[in-house]
Amino acid sequence: MKALVKEELGFGNLTLLTVDEPAVREGQVKIEVKYAGICGSDLHTYEGNYKVNAPVTLGHEFSGVITEVASDVTELNVGDRVTSETTFYVCGECRYCQTGDFNLCNHRKGLGTQVNGGFAKYLVAKASSVHKLPDHVDYASASLTEPLACAHHAVKKATISPGDVAVVLGPGPIGLLTAQVAKAYGAKVIITGLDNDLTRLNKAEELGIDSVVNIQKENIHDIVNSFTNGYGADLIFECTGAVPAANMGLDLLAKKGQFVQVGIFPHAKIEIDFEKIIQKEIRVVGTRSQKSADWAPSLDMMNDGRVNAKALITHEFSIAEWDKGYEAIKSGEAIKVSLLPLDQN
Ligand SMILES: [Zn+2]
Ligand SMILES: [Zn+2]
Repeated sequence: MKALVKEELGFGNLTLLTVDEPAVREGQVKIEVKYAGICGSDLHTYEGNYKVNAPVTLGHEFSGVITEVASDVTELNVGDRVTSETTFYVCGECRYCQTGDFNLCNHRKGLGTQVNGGFAKYLVAKASSVHKLPDHVDYASASLTEPLACAHHAVKKATISPGDVAVVLGPGPIGLLTAQVAKAYGAKVIITGLDNDLTRLNKAEELGIDSVVNIQKENIHDIVNSFTNGYGADLIFECTGAVPAANMGLDLLAKKGQFVQVGIFPHAKIEIDFEKIIQKEIRVVGTRSQKSADWAPSLDMMNDGRVNAKALITHEFSIAEWDKGYEAIKSGEAIKVSLLPLDQN
């Protein structure tokens, strides 16, 4: 089968190769991939800024149909429509594994980064990581369960109550999903972007986000104040990874507000106005990836229509045309790009 493989670390080294179909071992299922999304981290991997266990087939956001199950797997069957958590191996013993915080296990191996992922016709997943798709979740939507689970994780790292005003900074895929999840939990949501985010801001309007703000054209402080009687936002979800946005977020927060850092900064050490955190008694929370508990609610939210994930997919290419997908994301033309497997061997 054809697979899109990161052959070596460093810039590039991403090649469509002919590889053997994976074999199913104990506790595993084989999945024929239907859709696999390109994630921002795949771009970082391509550019050599994200370490994976090369050589490895990329693609950790996928959906498909089960074509084979190991003899000891009883909960899943051939023909089941599924998606899978990216967790392929965890130690099962550390304090994080004991509480289901698999995203924090030091020994975790993930599909599409350490173990072969979904940019191929088939992959093998751990049965206990696999989720069956509810009836109203199609394959395209299901391929976005992983990023949606990341958004769900971010929202659940905070305490969110109906009527809260949340500001999502950055209308990329994770921002657009976080905004929808925050709305699903009853918040009023303001999402912000810049002039070059036009496509994404229009998508936010289409998705019914309460207020969509281009901060280069409108005064975000006035808008947040109008939503909050001048108090400021209850929650900030910083989804850009840009330092000025993070500082703007601290500015926009009410006293006792919660600041959730979702985006990853290009440099680890940044200049942040810590005085605001102290004086306004702001609670700052980090959020990393997703965990098992985020998956069922994410599938539910797509199933009952509270979240429209599929609307983010603007482009589809075969895995042979991955470079077109890469360009479409880099240029800002695409929101989410799906790659489809090739049938040929
Ligand atoms: Zn991802
Ligand atoms: Zn562990």
